[in-house]
Amino acid sequence: MLFRQLFDLQSSTYTYLLADETIRDAVLIDPVFEQFERDRALLRELGLNLRYTLETHVHADHVTGAWLLREAVGSRIVLSRRSGAAGADRYIDPGDLVTAGAVELEVRGTPGHTDGCVTYLAVDHRMAFTGDALLIRSAGRTDFQQGDPGLLYRSIREQIFPLPDECLLYPGHDYNGRTVTTVGEEKRWNPRVGGEASEDDFVGYMRNLGLPHPKQLDVAVPANLKCGEPERGAVPLRPAWGPAVRTFAGTPEIDPTWVADHRDAVTLLDVREAAELTGELGHVDGILHIPLGELRERVAEVPADKPVITVCRSGRRSAQATVILEKAGVNDVANAAGGMLRWRALGL
Ligand code: FE
Repeated sequence: MLFRQLFDLQSSTYTYLLADETIRDAVLIDPVFEQFERDRALLRELGLNLRYTLETHVHADHVTGAWLLREAVGSRIVLSRRSGAAGADRYIDPGDLVTAGAVELEVRGTPGHTDGCVTYLAVDHRMAFTGDALLIRSAGRTDFQQGDPGLLYRSIREQIFPLPDECLLYPGHDYNGRTVTTVGEEKRWNPRVGGEASEDDFVGYMRNLGLPHPKQLDVAVPANLKCGEPERGAVPLRPAWGPAVRTFAGTPEIDPTWVADHRDAVTLLDVREAAELTGELGHVDGILHIPLGELRERVAEVPADKPVITVCRSGRRSAQATVILEKAGVNDVANAAGGMLRWRALGL
């Protein structure tokens, strides 16, 4: 099974990608709206078909990327029936199985942080995704939404702690750089719910956290109750000017065939050294030529009236050129994928 742990720095949210390496079917657990481009790029670059997005619960600290991913790649939105959210494709209950090829996850009800919280447990009991029920040496807050510390204590003690000690636990968040824990570790070392902690001990601890109101709560919860569908309908899944996509490395990239077909609609910026323009690869007619090393100083020479397509020999230096241009405020920019090598290979 293919496994990736992804992180959203803004909300400290973990998103998990699980996939069957043979048939290439994948699921994403707790995708983040703002990370949609990243997640779509990773799926594309790894050659995966996203079957499902799975939510562990209705989040209060970030908006889910579930709706955007469904729009873009046709994944189905999976949510707990008790979440109260509308617009999912499949509502799950404790005991249900979610499968995508060899990825087989059992749904366990772990309410208490919210009513609809679930943990996704690999059927071999080697890993579980606990959302905000059990965090590493911590537990999800119980002071908003339908928080109930007594219920959360019982969820953790009855649904998670009986799992094998070596079962890996992947939480919905971590604010201290920790990435994974195990059942055995948390049973022993979790300061809230581990060791000899009674339900009353846990409730007392949770009632006295004194945490600030979550910044995103008033935005995130209503949006997540609609699976992350944006308020005013359509969000551009691609730039209006052309079919550029962002790679997992963060570069806006575009197919060179599109560039050749829309030659007059764009500025083609070649960032190779002067000598390369007359080398064996040659150059495209009508380019703007600024070597990469001079681009920072000469960025004002790039006209602002058309999208800018950067090109070099292999598409590496021109990827860096898009970084320089975006930093300078040029928004409609993309790297011609594969550079002049591919341009030539395609006979453009
Ligand atoms: Fe949460």
